[in-house]
Amino acid sequence: MGRIALRTLITLGGIGVLALWWTGAIPGFTATPALTVTTFGELVGLIAGYLVCVQVLLIARIPWFERGVGLDRLVSWHRSVGTTVIFLVMTHIAFMMLGGMLADGKNPVGEYISILSAYQDMWWATIGTLVFFVVGLTSARLLKSLLPYEWWYWIHVTTYIAIFLTFLHQVSSGTNFVAHPVPRAIWILMYVGTALCVVWWRALLPLVRFARHDWTVATVVPESPRAVSVWIKGNDIEDLGIRAGNFMMFRFLTWRHIWSAHPYSISAPPYQGHLRITVADLGNHSGALRDIRPGTKVIVEGPHGSFTAERAKRQQLVLIAGGAGIGPIAALARDFAGRGFNSVVIYRARDVDDMALLDEVRGLPGTRLIVAPGRRSDLGFDPLAPEHLSSLVPDIRGREAFLCGPEPMMDTATHSLHALGVRRIHAEEMSFA
Ligand SMILES: Cc1cc2nc3c(=O)[nH]c(=O)nc-3n(C[C@H](O)[C@H](O)[C@H](O)COP(=O)(O)OP(=O)(O)OC[C@H]3O[C@@H](n4cnc5c(N)ncnc54)[C@H](O)[C@@H]3O)c2cc1C
Repeated sequence: MGRIALRTLITLGGIGVLALWWTGAIPGFTATPALTVTTFGELVGLIAGYLVCVQVLLIARIPWFERGVGLDRLVSWHRSVGTTVIFLVMTHIAFMMLGGMLADGKNPVGEYISILSAYQDMWWATIGTLVFFVVGLTSARLLKSLLPYEWWYWIHVTTYIAIFLTFLHQVSSGTNFVAHPVPRAIWILMYVGTALCVVWWRALLPLVRFARHDWTVATVVPESPRAVSVWIKGNDIEDLGIRAGNFMMFRFLTWRHIWSAHPYSISAPPYQGHLRITVADLGNHSGALRDIRPGTKVIVEGPHGSFTAERAKRQQLVLIAGGAGIGPIAALARDFAGRGFNSVVIYRARDVDDMALLDEVRGLPGTRLIVAPGRRSDLGFDPLAPEHLSSLVPDIRGREAFLCGPEPMMDTATHSLHALGVRRIHAEEMSFA
């Protein structure tokens, strides 16, 4: 399923919700302003309720969505839909209050109290909505960047409770459901189906795979003062279709690491029951991987992503890595070399001592390695600026590009590649920003 197919599916679902609203709307609802406003408030609530399911399904790790769209883009859609849901929930509340006030002539406080007592499960809906707002606030870029990732993650997980609490009032008090058993059954099925998808793909399947593959840390190899490679072994992991350039979610089962799964790219795909990730010390989790013990069990989810050699349409390539981006780029360079393609690998890092996997890339057939160490402020120029890039790789225009690294480097490289006329650019950012 591709991006267009998924968008079409979501739109068709939205049309279905409109139909459901229309069939359940009170006949002649435009007769009074109060009824009109309330009925539109219900429509907005229904769309919000539907989009909540869409939002959850986007990150439920459903394989068809992931293969067609890619987890990074699904995460970005999930975030946009989340902002829309918050806006719709506020509009729903405003319309329902206004409709009630127009009908009863009460002030906002009086109206809210009467809604709480007149309709079932409104207290739960109020608590759920408050949780939604807290989650929405903490997901705003500024606040999110101030919170430790694990805190943000666990606050975010409470969304599932909020969804359940707000779902109750939809089916017990929604005009479109109270006296309409079929739409009610469809709605309940949609929520139950969504919950089952999350339970299966996000919780049970990783556990089933953990039991089957018995993922275990085999060894940890220092690659530079700030990077280590972690080799992980498992039974039959060749069957999982893991490719160079994919990333997976790793939850190391130690007291320190168990609380969250982190995304790391594959720097060596499965071979003889082992795969490798190469991790730069960028914070609490990544820094502590240096001390992880061989024998530690790991829950591994994936593979995810489409930053793989199959995307290449040309046999002349330029691969650009920044910092920890060398992991997937080294794996891809090896994959391309195996296919007989011609690659130029450009490796940017702050310091030459920080550079990992150099010897591995240097020795690959058909591959030229260019190292570009140094901070831009010390160098006085950016090696990835168009004029420097074109002198490093004079035939760059005819090449297809694969880039992986931190956001600022990716921005510069993408801009330069466009300026130099490179048409096909594949990028993997090392954050879900
Ligand atoms: C698709 C992808 C592939 C990646 N591949 C590699 C790799 O091969 N090698 C490598 O060194 N790094 C890789 N990273 C980055 C790596 O995931 C983060 O550096 C690491 O999770 C940071 O966690 P921390 O606790 O060390 O740092 P923190 O200081 O806690 O986090 C730094 C930032 O990393 C992000 N982050 C932290 N935890 C998570 C999480 N559980 N899930 C998602 N994002 C998180 C957040 O944006 C956070 O602000 C990749 C990231 C992504 C999205």
